[in-house]
Amino acid sequence: MTMYDYIIVGSGLYGAIFAYEMKKIGKKCLVLEKRGHIAGNIYTEEVEGINVHKYGAHIFHTSVKETWEYISQFAEFNSFINSPLANYQGTLYNLPFNMNTFYKMWGKATPAEVDAIISEQRKEIKDEPKNLEEQAISLVGRDVYERLIKGYTQKQWGRPCDELPAFIIRRLPVRYTYDNNYFSDRYQGIPIGGYTKIISKMLDGIDVKLGTDYLDNREKWNQIGRKIVYTGAIDAYFDYCYGPLAYRSVRFETEILNIPNYQGNAVINYTDEIVPYTRIIEHKHFEFGTQPSTVISREYSEEWQPGMEPYYPVNDAKNDEIYKKYKALADALPDTIFGGRLADYKYYDMDKIIELALKHVNEEQVRKLE
Ligand code: FAD
Ligand code: UDP
Repeated sequence: MTMYDYIIVGSGLYGAIFAYEMKKIGKKCLVLEKRGHIAGNIYTEEVEGINVHKYGAHIFHTSVKETWEYISQFAEFNSFINSPLANYQGTLYNLPFNMNTFYKMWGKATPAEVDAIISEQRKEIKDEPKNLEEQAISLVGRDVYERLIKGYTQKQWGRPCDELPAFIIRRLPVRYTYDNNYFSDRYQGIPIGGYTKIISKMLDGIDVKLGTDYLDNREKWNQIGRKIVYTGAIDAYFDYCYGPLAYRSVRFETEILNIPNYQGNAVINYTDEIVPYTRIIEHKHFEFGTQPSTVISREYSEEWQPGMEPYYPVNDAKNDEIYKKYKALADALPDTIFGGRLADYKYYDMDKIIELALKHVNEEQVRKLE
């Protein structure tokens, strides 16, 4: 029987980087993947010559030069800049919140005029914001909150804004310039040819078993691996002994349309509560596609139930407490490394996943030397 140094559970970005780096230093790895394909949630699939982001739009961005250089080993990135629009009851606003948005909202063209309005509106919040609603109003005032945040957030998270943690909204920039770039990072783009190719390159020459759920047969895999690297959901690993953690799932309704251009932009958010989906993605615009047809996906946010794909961890106080208990169990296991979005129950972007996987690889090497 082949013996592996690492059995890696999950072929997403974290698992693939871990396997790639370990192979480079002569370790033998086996990657187990319960889905029928590699690449986890960054999986892209070609439809009508268009790379479709099957598990939601993925735009790579980072401020860390080393992280950008690391991912650029595996693909060339285009010059895509994410500039989503928000559709509120039929009117379009630019995102993130910037002078274009404010001009549309109030007809005020100078930063000083806009600042006067927002300063007045934010007076409503007197103390440190305690939840997402207060945080949003204290950042951009009530008008923007009511039209561009409240409905979208409640659809996205299935909870009222005053029951959600403030940090969720803090990641969105607020700018007093006419700048529609959604991210403030130095580096940004989409890998030309899609994300799946990146993961294929990382896993080149590494044993991969698709359609294989580690948890169905863990004793068997533990016997042939010196260490386990687990990137699945942490509550599932421990058989939900402290109860299930809450996740949001997303249902994608994807359509091929026989027109070259449906909405003129890669991402349009629907920020009112009447439209049932949160956004429409038009995939070709990520790579400036000129195909005769187009592929669009409507995203419907749903509460996760067993059997669905978990997408977003719900990091409210209650769930973070449950997670801490699972984490204590995980820390006590010497031969299992937990890493990635589901195992850490954290909403990491891809750049953070790269940094985390490389950190864990380094820690493994240091441990070996000790
Ligand atoms: P995953 O990609 O989830 O991989 C985990 C893998 O493990 C999966 O393939 C799963 O099938 C497998 N697995 C789980 N349990 C088992 C088991 N028991 N046995 C075998 N296999 C198992 N990041 C950005 O930087 N930019 C974006 O624009 C962006 N947009 C996003 C949009 C959406 C809708 C979502 C949900 C995420 C987005 N992200 C974005 C985040 C990005 O998807 C993650 O950072 C990244 O995919 C996490 O990689 P991972 O390897 O930790 O997890
Ligand atoms: N958000 C919003 N209106 C928008 C876009 C985002 O209120 O049009 C809020 C919402 O609460 C969301 C959070 O900002 O959960 C973070 O948005 P981001 O685009 O970073 O979320 P993701 O793309 O990861 O779903």
